[in-house]
Formats: sequence, C-alpha cells, structure tokens
Amino acid sequence: MQLESLSCNNCGAPVEVTPTTNYLTCAHCGSRLAVKRTETAHYTEVLDRLQARVDQVDDELEDLRAENELLRLDQDWEEERKQYMVRTKDGSLVEPSMSGVTGSLIGLGAIVAAFIWFSTGSFSSSFSGLFFLLIVAAIGFSIYSIISEWTKYQEYKAAEAAYYARRDAALSRRSRKN
Ligand SMILES: [Zn+2]
Repeated sequence: MQLESLSCNNCGAPVEVTPTTNYLTCAHCGSRLAVKRTETAHYTEVLDRLQARVDQVDDELEDLRAENELLRLDQDWEEERKQYMVRTKDGSLVEPSMSGVTGSLIGLGAIVAAFIWFSTGSFSSSFSGLFFLLIVAAIGFSIYSIISEWTKYQEYKAAEAAYYARRDAALSRRSRKN
C-alpha cells in the first residue's frame, strides 16, 4: 500500500497516511487529525472537537492563573496595609480614617478654645508663663498629629486604590473568556 507523507496541522510533524486513511492521531503531539483531500492538495486538519477541548483547557488554565494572581494580590495587600495601621487609644490597630483626623481637629479646637478663654478671662492675670508654654506645646503637638494622620490617611488611600486597580486588572483577565 502506498504511503503518503503529510504534515500534522497542529504541530507540523510529518504523518504517514494510506490512501484510505481518513482519521489518525499525530504521534508527535497527540492531536486527532482528519485527512482532507481536494483535487489540488492533501492535508490534515485538527478535529474541531479536540481543538475545542484544548481551548477549554487553556481557558481553565488561564482562570486558574488569574485566581492565583488574585489570591497573591490579596495576600500582598494584607501584608502591605499593616504598615499603614494606626493604634487607637484603646490599643487596637485600625486603618487610618478621616474620623481619626476629624477627632484630632476637634481636640485642637478644644485646646485653642481653652487657650482663648484662659487668656481673655478673669484667669489672665494669674496666667503663668509655664502654663502658656504647655498650651503652646499642646497646640503644636496637636497640629503635628493632624498633619501626620492626614498624610498617613492619604498614603493609605493611595495604596488601597493601587491595590484595587491591580485586582480589577486581574479580574478582567479572568472574566475575558467567560
Ligand atoms: Zn502533531
């Protein structure tokens, strides 16, 4: 029987077919092939069913990769966000928030109000220099806290936004083919 040499349509490896061969499996890549014969050419074609299966496995693999990436992003963020945590008065660690900044602003307002009241009221005559220094120090410390809390809050928000952007990108890679 005469053998004809064709090439696998999937990997290009040579395959031998007889004139009656309609289907064969490529010994090199394992693809199921159909032998197509036209008047001008003989060639092989990867069977659609198999190709669809390969595509499906590719999709599943890509989904798995995306799932892994999501998991890694979440774990990285859990680590990263720890450096932004602030300690509350009761000792627990929380993420920086605007309410923390607002609280410090109210504290500053109270100190300033007390200062104005003391310096203009009947106490002003007995207002000692040490007390004045303490109040100025308290105001200075309060302003410093507000600035550092605000900065930390901004840094945290920026890092959080970057994390969400990375997560969205990973999510869109996963859902692209679904
Ligand atoms: Zn092949």
